[in-house]
Amino acid sequence: MQSISRRLQKINYSQTLAMSAKTRALKAKGLDVISLNIGEPDFSPPSYILEAAKKAVDQGHHYYTPVSGSLELREAVCEKFLRDNLLHYNPSQIVVSAGSKQSISNLFLSLLNPGDKVIIPSPFWVSYYEMVNLCEALPVIIHTSISTDFKITPEQLEEAITPDVKIFIFSSPCNPTGSVYSSEELKCLTKVFVKHPDVIIISDEIYEYINYSEKYTSIGSFPDVYEQTVTLNGISKTFAMTGWRIGFIGAPLWIAKTCEKVQGQTSSGTNSIAQQAAIIALKSHPNRIAYMIEAFRKRRDLVLDMMKEIPGFKSNEPVGSFYIFPNIAEIFGNTFLGVKISNAYDLSMFLLEKAQVATVAGSSFGAESNLRISYASSEETLKEAFKRIKRMLL
Ligand code: GLU
Repeated sequence: MQSISRRLQKINYSQTLAMSAKTRALKAKGLDVISLNIGEPDFSPPSYILEAAKKAVDQGHHYYTPVSGSLELREAVCEKFLRDNLLHYNPSQIVVSAGSKQSISNLFLSLLNPGDKVIIPSPFWVSYYEMVNLCEALPVIIHTSISTDFKITPEQLEEAITPDVKIFIFSSPCNPTGSVYSSEELKCLTKVFVKHPDVIIISDEIYEYINYSEKYTSIGSFPDVYEQTVTLNGISKTFAMTGWRIGFIGAPLWIAKTCEKVQGQTSSGTNSIAQQAAIIALKSHPNRIAYMIEAFRKRRDLVLDMMKEIPGFKSNEPVGSFYIFPNIAEIFGNTFLGVKISNAYDLSMFLLEKAQVATVAGSSFGAESNLRISYASSEETLKEAFKRIKRMLL
């Protein structure tokens, strides 16, 4: 009998991408939908990066690169890690992939056996959970709430680590909560990890630059945990290049090698022109994209202000990424325009259908009572979106 694999039967569609598909379909029908669902900057990539890509076409970069990425790019990644994160890697410890999403799937495929456990603090990015399931491993969720700014404590971590835990994965700045772990908070977590050197820490730093708090710290920069840490980053969010699909890891050599092995059998590596552009992006000083970060910060403030006017939306103050993740449980049970809202999915669908504002329900991020709103859109768009939301809910 023809059927999909048992492995796949257990996993859900990516809700971030499913909402994008719905939004696209409605827009194609001529509806004026505002997309606050996807994590995608509305800026154009910087022109000096685009120029590098055009030059790469003219120079004939049309062929396979090494599976892990061109040497020049891996050297640029090493420079970036040293400049921004005080992380010493050499090019053989770097694997460049088709977005950091592929980096994560390489890692999970390389490291997980069925039944292994992966600790994921919740709320989490949708695909961590599903990719763990895809590998027939078991997610172990550490729950957090607004009261702790959605951050885990060392005690929670210690309690979650059991002998069959193989990986701990988290994002800071966090998608979807916008929380950023301080250097001190990370240091406290490292004290737990050093007691468990077999647990591999995957530090997802894709929103590193989109950080309005103190200077950014990478957990791998603490020498005690360097050998058990994989640092994950990419150019999608920082340089507004989501479609170019460049993500990368810096990892202990044995992990880099095994990711290269997986990638060699699955994709042969990522796009050669995009790799040339990424070299220029990573070599450029972060100051050059400071205008985008400042715009995100202003939008964050605007959204927080506008949200105060909507009863029942309660949020932390996000200090990074470009999401806000209000708890909306207070409105559950209420009826608006004849539609009863019983959960976050109902609200997300209601806002899409009635206000034509696309968001993502928190359930796929491990938080049933929350709604994810991306503010990677212009202030004008955000104002219009909140005007519509307010009109529906007041
Ligand atoms: N990471 C972005 C988001 O959360 C892009 C979509 C995805 O890959 O999930 O919206």
